Amino acid sequence: MSKSPFVVANHKANKTWEEVRSWLVEISNETSAFPGTIVFCPSAPFLASTYSEIKKINSSLQLSAQDISKFEQGAYTGEFAATQIKDFCTYSIIGHSERRANFNESENTLSQKVKNAKTAGIEPIFCVQSVENEIPTDVKIVAYEPVFAIGTGNPDTPANVKDIAKKLKEKGEFMILYGGSVDAQNVKSFLEPTLIDGVLIGASNSLDPKKFIAIVQNAA
Ligand code: PEP
Repeated sequence: MSKSPFVVANHKANKTWEEVRSWLVEISNETSAFPGTIVFCPSAPFLASTYSEIKKINSSLQLSAQDISKFEQGAYTGEFAATQIKDFCTYSIIGHSERRANFNESENTLSQKVKNAKTAGIEPIFCVQSVENEIPTDVKIVAYEPVFAIGTGNPDTPANVKDIAKKLKEKGEFMILYGGSVDAQNVKSFLEPTLIDGVLIGASNSLDPKKFIAIVQNAA
């Protein structure tokens, strides 16, 4: 398992390639002393070029998809299969609340995605919105992301996140992340050795390189 703190930047459907490249260069330069793991999730069209750029500039960032298809390779126009990105990506987010809500992704679909990711050698970062969500077999990294906290500036309380993390850990030996309005001021309050290993940062504070660098620095 990768080093803690584990900080994930999810860019969602934002930025052009030139903006992604410039973000990657700045983050790589400014966070080279960070002792943990930084995982970058650019939009799918930029996965291959981000991978090449990471190699070119010798960046320590790891690459993740934001999602993968529930299908394997085949006649699925617009989709991409886990086996098509396995050479680039170490991780893939699966089960983000925006996928569940906007694309009607069921627990069945999410289990299939996890299965495809694992078979391809990609580690799922599996998002749950509460302790009630089903967690598919073989998931090792779970991100607790309550919907009310995503992009609202209204994070869950550290006490509640710790309580949820304990309950999640009763279900399996997971690495636990918290996501939802994490910023440079509050990031440290969510990290707890052996309980909460990292944070997932969405559009609010990962797109602006300065805000993201401040989070990484304060998480160390
Ligand atoms: C997210 O979308 O997963 C997220 C955590 O968003 P934000 O950091 O913007 O609240």
